[in-house]
Amino acid sequence: MKKIAVMTSGGDAPGMNAAVRAVVRYAVKNDIKVLGIQRGYAGLLDEDFIEMDFASVGGIMEKGGTILRSSRCPEFVRKETRREAASILAKHGVEGLIVIGGEGSLHGAMFLEEEQKVPVVGIPGTIDNDIAMTDMSIGVDTCLNTVVDAIQKLKDTASSHERAFIVEVMGRSSGYIATVAGLVTGAEAIVIPEIPVNYEALGNKILKERERGKINCIVVVAEGAASAYTVARHLEHRIGYETRITILGHIQRGGSPTAFDRLLASRMGVAAVEFLKRGQSYVMMALQGGKIVPVKLDEVLKQKKSLNMELVELTALLS
Ligand code: ATP
Repeated sequence: MKKIAVMTSGGDAPGMNAAVRAVVRYAVKNDIKVLGIQRGYAGLLDEDFIEMDFASVGGIMEKGGTILRSSRCPEFVRKETRREAASILAKHGVEGLIVIGGEGSLHGAMFLEEEQKVPVVGIPGTIDNDIAMTDMSIGVDTCLNTVVDAIQKLKDTASSHERAFIVEVMGRSSGYIATVAGLVTGAEAIVIPEIPVNYEALGNKILKERERGKINCIVVVAEGAASAYTVARHLEHRIGYETRITILGHIQRGGSPTAFDRLLASRMGVAAVEFLKRGQSYVMMALQGGKIVPVKLDEVLKQKKSLNMELVELTALLS
């Protein structure tokens, strides 16, 4: 293998740069040239490429976002568009493609190999932790730490004013961020897409906590379950006092990646290149039981990652 390409696609996630750095440096050390594709699939179609060498990825590991930038490229769902992408890659002598991104991006990669025979390796990068067959995706840990930090600050003001705070966090289809953040900040309750919300029980729990003497109250809501405004509306007339709403929004995507994400990204980046080098592809790098293992792309993408319900039980048990 003489030349590969790497891109970041979909929603950006902290740690993507560490993955790009690992891909580039490990490839260069193995005499493989690396083309950086800027702006995901849209940049691929526009031939928005940069040659990357060892030095070009210096000092990027600690940066949030992605230096290759990212995009959503709706036309990539069309087969003709993917055919065009494959011919562009062939024209540039690219023999393998590494795609760092979420479920959508990995679908694009899977189709590129299935239909157009472009050897691809995926690296899961998304803050939602909604990709199956891997314990964690790159960016989840950093996002979680950002959320925990924010909730901790809200708890300070919630205690001072004896208020209830409804905090909306990311998680369109997965309640992972809300559950773990709720668990480790001692939130009163979590509202997640996996479990239908019972406002009556939620209101009663908050009232009980107040009777017990607790002066702050935090409810963590995953955006895919309900909006913080809806939860607040349902709760206020049941608990009889005002709530405050905080929507954490895009700050959850930013920030310097944690040590965990840098390490995960570095390990996955090296493993991805190693796979292509050995002539293997059509896999996603996954973290399973502490090891980086390859899992077949079609198997990953036909599954929906389920939330570990033990975490939900633990949250309820301890609050
Ligand atoms: P995140 O989980 O952070 O949002 P993502 O990778 O899932 O990241 P999407 O917007 O779903 O983000 O997908 C990114 C890009 O991948 C899309 O803009 C499109 O170019 C491509 N893509 C998504 N779904 C498909 C699909 N079914 N077939 C081909 N390409 C796809």
